[in-house]
Amino acid sequence: MRYISTRGTAPVLTFEQAMLTGLARDGGLYLPEDIPTLTTAQIAAMAGKSYEDVAFEVMRPFIGDTFTDAQFRDLIARAYAGFGHAARAPLVQVDSNHYLLELFHGPTLAFKDFAMQLIGQMFQAALTRSGDRVTIVGATSGDTGSAAIEAFRGLKAVYVIILYPHGRVSEVQRRQMTTPVESNVHALAVDGDFEDCQALVKDMFNDFAFRDDVRLAGVNSINWGRVLAQVVYYFTAAVSLGAPHRPVSFTVPTGNFGDVFAGFIAKQMGLPIVDLVVATNRNDILHRTLLTGAYTKEGVTPTISPSMDIQVSSNFERALFYAYGQDGAAVAGQMEDLKSGGFTISQGAYEMLTATFKSGRASEEDTSAAIKAYNARHGELLCPHTAVGAHVAEKHLGTVPMITLATAHPAKFPDAVKAASGIAAPLPARMADLYDRPERVTRVSGDLAAVQNVIKERITA
Ligand SMILES: *Cc1c(COP(=O)(O)O)cnc(C)c1O
Repeated sequence: MRYISTRGTAPVLTFEQAMLTGLARDGGLYLPEDIPTLTTAQIAAMAGKSYEDVAFEVMRPFIGDTFTDAQFRDLIARAYAGFGHAARAPLVQVDSNHYLLELFHGPTLAFKDFAMQLIGQMFQAALTRSGDRVTIVGATSGDTGSAAIEAFRGLKAVYVIILYPHGRVSEVQRRQMTTPVESNVHALAVDGDFEDCQALVKDMFNDFAFRDDVRLAGVNSINWGRVLAQVVYYFTAAVSLGAPHRPVSFTVPTGNFGDVFAGFIAKQMGLPIVDLVVATNRNDILHRTLLTGAYTKEGVTPTISPSMDIQVSSNFERALFYAYGQDGAAVAGQMEDLKSGGFTISQGAYEMLTATFKSGRASEEDTSAAIKAYNARHGELLCPHTAVGAHVAEKHLGTVPMITLATAHPAKFPDAVKAASGIAAPLPARMADLYDRPERVTRVSGDLAAVQNVIKERITA
């Protein structure tokens, strides 16, 4: 299996190289040259299998010879062993034709654990083999950083440095980043907002001397390994509702378009998915794009669903690549236009996108109302991101079963949940002592050189 860039001019890589590289050198994102398909019989045979067995079958065709079958099975087993639910991603029915796919039973209570736990194992295995050691630096608005620190803690081949905006993540998110004691993981609290953290990370990747010196690597949501791991639960969920004999639709609370794009890959692989509904909060660039075909940047407004507060959705480029018939030059052209504010998708590409991707938007009021209503009607306490999804999903219910992705546990966003429902969502028992563990964090200014110095100190200590 070979991996190519969405912009067409970067070197073609193996799975291992694409995973370790992250962003392609031409600025594009890596994708498999061909998407493998599974037969109806293969999908039907997934019924009743464990999450881990389905994960192996779905991902195996993508990884080439990076791992042997036995090794890959072992990595998958380790990745999901720490989850707090035997099904890993259980499905809960809330209405006659509406289901919630609970993706928050991992160690940091958000769906990002599904991908991060697995790529933690895959990085460690690949780097141990090559004898390399890398420094992963990432910016987070909360969930990615906590999932990364949790996944990589104690792994010998990897240092992890996470930059988060000081005072702007929830207490649970912060504590998940600051309480692990392993010396290979570090949280830096930056004086600034999330965009400042992202800019620092970008500057570090563009500082080639520093980049080579510390062997910089990235695990943000454009990493193909992360997208791939997320394809799996589309299969387990759909099969448990009768796929391949019965089609289903999904509604996905969306920020960077990574999760919903994984659903697109599942569909290309042969899973009978009718609609993929992109649910946005009031930062609705994707909803506007799918309505009009014009992708235009606007400022970001903070919401109670902060993991979806984005201005530009990086993984959308992958969907564009397929919409343009895998024409890297066309994608590169649109991305060039984006630098000056936006672009308009060609008619053919727009029709291709909207044949699968539908969309909707939830205001802050809609989100709070959904939290309240689902608690009252169904006894389900939703996190604000899931509530955005549930609100939008209700506008797309029909004869096909709708599965809304429940992307985080309500206890991760207790203030918004309490304000909407009056209920204080308790942490699961297995992490109830989170508030008692000592914290370890380094406060840094937004100055690049200062942050780079702190990183160098931490990785040589
Ligand atoms: C990251 C995140 C999202 C958005 O996922 P994307 O893959 O960026 O679209 C939604 N909900 C929660 C809780 C998240 O952490």
